[in-house]
Amino acid sequence: MAKIIDGKAISAQVRADVAAETAELKEKGIVPGLAVIIVGDDPASRVYVNNKKKACAEVGFRSEEFALPADTDQSELLALVKCLNDRSDINGILCQLPLPKGLDDKAVIKAIAPEKDVDAFSEENVGKIMIGKYDFLPCTPAGVIELLRASDIEIAGKECVVIGRSNIVGKPMAMLLLHENGTVTICHSRTKDLAEVTRRADILVAAVGKAKFVTADMVKEGAVVIDVGMNRDENGKLCGDVDYASVEPKCSAITPVPGGVGPMTIAMLMKNTLKAAKLQNGIK
Ligand code: NAP
Repeated sequence: MAKIIDGKAISAQVRADVAAETAELKEKGIVPGLAVIIVGDDPASRVYVNNKKKACAEVGFRSEEFALPADTDQSELLALVKCLNDRSDINGILCQLPLPKGLDDKAVIKAIAPEKDVDAFSEENVGKIMIGKYDFLPCTPAGVIELLRASDIEIAGKECVVIGRSNIVGKPMAMLLLHENGTVTICHSRTKDLAEVTRRADILVAAVGKAKFVTADMVKEGAVVIDVGMNRDENGKLCGDVDYASVEPKCSAITPVPGGVGPMTIAMLMKNTLKAAKLQNGIK
């Protein structure tokens, strides 16, 4: 039977560590501050923003929400980002994506000061990740590395296969596995004979966005399977990219959905915001 990688427990430990460091910072008069921008009324974005604010309160950060109407224009949004860039009590800025039609998410990400870009989406921070000299890592891939580390799963020398090449998950995930000395293959919608490639994986990361896409025939016996997907099944129930029921008996370790990668993303956001506050206050 596979070891179930418990993202809830591991993320709780990360948040507890952040809370302990935050308490120490407070003794020096520093309270990390996160600004969360939400534009429009997308229900999923609202849930994510609420969860981020709740996590901030739990670890002892200040959070400020900036809720703008869906018809906000680009210049107003950029002016808000500029104002937050200039505020010394705001250490991290994130803009909840996707933005309503007509707004340019790339321009907004570019406008966020790199030292406050706690999602690590900006060109500068992405470039730093490429060369392995970074302050922040994108939260979801960093959360996956943390799950593997906390579960004592060695990455060095392993065949790692990532399905998906998005800028926020697949590509940085592959780069982080490479930094950990994995031998990395990235698959995408144009990959020929996907199952033949995924069956080589000692560590298989699925970031496809398709419910139950990874089936048992695509997985090597004893592989570690990390499911980044957050989808709805035919009954509207949350499920991952991995067909858990058929894959779990075949692997040595697996992340469930929910309760796997998902909780790690917000925990890593807290870690990045703490780091931003420390760096901006000259603390290593
Ligand atoms: P995305 O931007 O839609 O990227 C999906 C990737 O999957 C693309 O690179 C695409 O290939 C590839 N793909 C699609 N169909 C494929 C196929 N038949 N065979 C092989 N590859 C295929 O999605 P994303 O933003 O990376 O997110 C992926 C999943 O992770 C989603 O379910 C999302 O909700 C979830 N997610 C979870 C968290 C979390 O906190 N747990 C955070 C972020 C995302 P092409 O590039 O060729 O089109």
